[in-house]
Amino acid sequence: MNTDQHTITISGLQVEIVRKNIKNLHLGVYPPGGRVRVAAPLRVSNDAVRLAVIGKLGWIKRQQLKFERQPRESSREMVSGESHYFLGHRYRLRVIPDACKKQCVIVRNKATIELHVRPDADVEERQRVLANWYRVQLREFLGPLMEKWQNRLGVQATAYGIKRMKTKWGTCNHEARRVWINLELAKKSSECLEYVVAHELVHLIVRHHDDAFVAIMDKHMPRWRSIRDDLNGSPLAHEIWRE
Ligand SMILES: [Zn+2]
Repeated sequence: MNTDQHTITISGLQVEIVRKNIKNLHLGVYPPGGRVRVAAPLRVSNDAVRLAVIGKLGWIKRQQLKFERQPRESSREMVSGESHYFLGHRYRLRVIPDACKKQCVIVRNKATIELHVRPDADVEERQRVLANWYRVQLREFLGPLMEKWQNRLGVQATAYGIKRMKTKWGTCNHEARRVWINLELAKKSSECLEYVVAHELVHLIVRHHDDAFVAIMDKHMPRWRSIRDDLNGSPLAHEIWRE
């Protein structure tokens, strides 16, 4: 693997530097905490990296401020009236105590998520019922998208699945050829989900986010940058993106 990673401090700012076999220096500020990361070509000196960062300090500070002010989804009590998201749309939660029916979720009029739970169901139980529903919905969307992008890219994952992850929308194990998709994506637009599926499957061809990776994304999903920014700019789920 032709990369090397370390952290330096520039004007009081922690900067992660990754050396890669790439042509251009890339500077990024990432949510949720405003982490600063520089991907630098192997032959560029540390001083040159330092200068590049100093030249962008104003921009970096502005980006960090933006993330700081970004709305976070608040902690959920799982009571009627709360906003919950599904496929990028905002729904109002309606908790319906229901002793006789199997616990379930029903979407009404593209506006309300009805949560049918036992009258004594506590917050955790309500969360569990909703999370199970998200998982079933996401699985339904995921199947055809995996099919579509495996065909398009000419790759085959040995397995894929859904799990809760704290810091990533998706992961790909290059050797085992296994893809994991974050359950949280059930709350984001279908475009976001498709982007993550495509991104992880491209990792079956190219392991790192290098020029080859970007070239494949550009070819098959020219809008990927704006979708990625959307995804990173959308309200971050309290329970997942805790710092
Ligand atoms: Zn990746």
